[in-house]
Amino acid sequence: MSTSIKLNKVVKRYGAIEVVHGIDLTIDPGEFTVFVGPSGCGKSTLLRMIAGLEPISGGELLIDGERMNEVPASKRGIAMVFQSYALYPHMTVYKNLAFGLETAGYKRAEVEERVQKAAKILKIDTYLQRRPKALSGGQRQRVAIGRAIVREPKIFLFDEPLSNLDAELRVQMRVEIAKLHQDLGNTMIYVTHDQVEAMTMADKIVVLNKGHVEQVGRPLDLYHHPRNLFVAGFIGSPSMNFLPGKIAGLSETGVEVALGGGQKALVRCKPDARAAKGAPVTLGLRPEDLKPNAPGDSAIPGKVRMVERLGGDTYLYLNTQEGADITVHAPGDIVVAAGDQIPIGVSAAKSHLFHESGEAFARFPA
Ligand code: ADP
Ligand code: MG
Repeated sequence: MSTSIKLNKVVKRYGAIEVVHGIDLTIDPGEFTVFVGPSGCGKSTLLRMIAGLEPISGGELLIDGERMNEVPASKRGIAMVFQSYALYPHMTVYKNLAFGLETAGYKRAEVEERVQKAAKILKIDTYLQRRPKALSGGQRQRVAIGRAIVREPKIFLFDEPLSNLDAELRVQMRVEIAKLHQDLGNTMIYVTHDQVEAMTMADKIVVLNKGHVEQVGRPLDLYHHPRNLFVAGFIGSPSMNFLPGKIAGLSETGVEVALGGGQKALVRCKPDARAAKGAPVTLGLRPEDLKPNAPGDSAIPGKVRMVERLGGDTYLYLNTQEGADITVHAPGDIVVAAGDQIPIGVSAAKSHLFHESGEAFARFPA
């Protein structure tokens, strides 16, 4: 028994300023959806409208098919977890978890049962008698999630819940929230500016930019088939490299691109009606799809500016002859040094191509 959410042309205005511009979105029952995008793109605003913490200026919000626009937050069956834990400092962990239920009039036995169950799921059952100041950041965030669980909501909303934690703990909590979703099976929406969190946790990613939806899809669909330059640059780490070029040739199965330095790169994609010889395009190359020290017809010569060795992986930062920056993912033990001139191998099947408008050429299935 899980819950669906539907947004029809949802708009948010603050005074005369529109910050969310008519968003259409369907979230299926039990889905883990991530809203991702740069700071200020409208993620929190959208989430708060769904929660009922912010009035909806236009359009419609449906939960399980029912209009929610006028329904108060407390009646939507939603629990929200924020970046700031906002625990009561003078109360024990137990009391922090129980307090909301007690004020809502739940019987003591029911409160006890729900608190114990949530504490067990979150593995905080051994410090129920501690106060928040005697907990680590990760433990506090767990208590905050526990407060949402005890309410047994239909929908969980998370707004950057891990941003205050250090890198190691973030990775650990990421796994735990994903596990929580597996165990509970509730519909969940998770907001983050971190595309790695989005990629690793989501069933469905919604990429937002300036109050618009850029693309909706499964993580690997967005990775392999970004619809435009924004999504291509946002999803994937390090970011996709972009090189300016012009269309030099067209066939059924690909486009030949002339780059500034005279090299030609073939891209396997479907040329559409707007693709014409001479048209300016952008070639998109992921760092992990490039081969360092691979001479060949469509190799791009690059001068190594910096070598970043992480042990298992190496990142090379190069400049092309035209001065464009390129990042290449290389094996950990690659023999290369700053100042070296090396050919970078480009694969037609792994390259991306974009119209001058920023829209992607359709790629063939991987
Ligand atoms: P995000 O969570 O993606 O960082 P927000 O949803 O917080 O972004 O904000 C989206 C836009 O709405 C931003 O431009 C922000 O300045 C604006 N905004 C947010 N809250 C208010 C407010 N109360 N009054 C006016 N503008 C706001
Ligand atoms: Mg926000």
